[in-house]
Amino acid sequence: MMDQSVTEAVAKLRELEEKRAALYHAMGVVNYDALTAAPKDTAEGRGRTMGVLSGMEYELTTGAETVAVLDVLMAHIAELDEQTAREVQLMKKANEQISRIPAEEYTAYSVLVNDAQSVWQRAKNENDFAAFEPYLEKIVAYNRTFAGYYNPDMKPYDALLNEYEEGMTMEVLDGFFENLRAVIVPLLRRVMAAPAIDDSFLHRSYPIEKQRVLSDMLMEVLGIDRSHCSIGETEHPFTDGFNNKDVRITTHYHEHELASSMYSVIHEGGHAIYELGCEDRFNYTAAAGGVSMGIHESQSRFFENIIGRSRAFIGFLFPKIREMFPEQLADVDAEMFYRAVNKAEPSLIRTESDELTYALHIMVRYEIEKRLIDGSLAVHDLPAAWNALYREYLGIDVPDDRSGCLQDSHWSGGAIGYFPSYALGSAYGAQMLHCMEAELPGLWEQVAAGNLAPVKEWLREHIHRYASLYAPGELFERACGKFDAAHFAAYLTDKYTALYGLKD
Ligand code: ZN
Repeated sequence: MMDQSVTEAVAKLRELEEKRAALYHAMGVVNYDALTAAPKDTAEGRGRTMGVLSGMEYELTTGAETVAVLDVLMAHIAELDEQTAREVQLMKKANEQISRIPAEEYTAYSVLVNDAQSVWQRAKNENDFAAFEPYLEKIVAYNRTFAGYYNPDMKPYDALLNEYEEGMTMEVLDGFFENLRAVIVPLLRRVMAAPAIDDSFLHRSYPIEKQRVLSDMLMEVLGIDRSHCSIGETEHPFTDGFNNKDVRITTHYHEHELASSMYSVIHEGGHAIYELGCEDRFNYTAAAGGVSMGIHESQSRFFENIIGRSRAFIGFLFPKIREMFPEQLADVDAEMFYRAVNKAEPSLIRTESDELTYALHIMVRYEIEKRLIDGSLAVHDLPAAWNALYREYLGIDVPDDRSGCLQDSHWSGGAIGYFPSYALGSAYGAQMLHCMEAELPGLWEQVAAGNLAPVKEWLREHIHRYASLYAPGELFERACGKFDAAHFAAYLTDKYTALYGLKD
């Protein structure tokens, strides 16, 4: 039996969590509006509103009342049920992280990052790394300092990784990437020596109005309830989940790129299925929503690549797509379509790269981030290091910084340690497939018939329903045992060896 003060503290905690969730909801809607419907010159009022709301959030997370409640609950953590204990730990973590950064540094950093984003955008457009260099230097210096505030006992880059993937370390990632590179680099070399795949028909004219109808069809096949999930249109596709009954995804249509929006919808749809599959009991608490970037990407990439780019799924989907675009696809069959959407080749731009080479793009960024944070690479020498790694890993020459080290927005927004989650997501997904296939013998026959229910049910049962109850590593291990990147390497080897008819 818990004593009175603990029961009261739990009630108080829930009240604080609900207020915090309401602020996140409000800030999320303001942000979503900014990216979708808001007219161009409306940043001023939005900036003020966001300033007030984030100030309230800061106060709520660090205030004396919160600290007092957390002190009581941390002292009695062993008496709390699993979910409440996790909520306390997550609130405690948020509280410590924010309060460890001195307020003036936090403010100065917010201003810096805000300026850096527009400077980066201009530097990218004008191919002018020198303009961005002083901002990135400061961002790197701040991140090195913040790493010490986040977790003084960890190596600085480990502390940053931990912000995006709780429990992840360089030791794990070094081994993961090294093993993966040893498989992908020679495999890619063999793919490049094989006859090229023709994907030219994907670049014919596909009217956007009809692509919107294709999106509707895909949402239906994915089994996503449109009364709880809308599709917007933005420059860069993304997913926002406010709670498990209100999720927004976006896509971007390109008239001459049929596969672009198609796979954005399936990818973001995977994120949405995760958010929608969380149990009601986590709504409006600190344990709401997907647990980490890596687990989230495992879900989006599972639907995009493992299901969406499978022969079984394309076999089901292609006749429907051809019905929508009879002229554009008159001379194409399902096998040609399957091959085209899986075509692999070294390229310059991460977001446009294929399933095989994607992890190599991530490895370049990982190496560079490690060196920037440990001080062995100066920001000034970043373009040269970037270009050398693209040559070494992908075998290509980078013609300019716009299509090189200036291509991604992440660093300008202060996100250092975020990139590895993308590659981890792919590897988590491949191992989930391995477990799923063992438990569901008729899996691919179902997918070939357009029935994704068994796949979704497996993921809901093992991953989605837990929201953020478990740390990502623990959640993954409960679902499919110890993480082993060999599954991803085997998946890529099997798929591309068959696709390109490579013989051992
Ligand atoms: Zn994603």
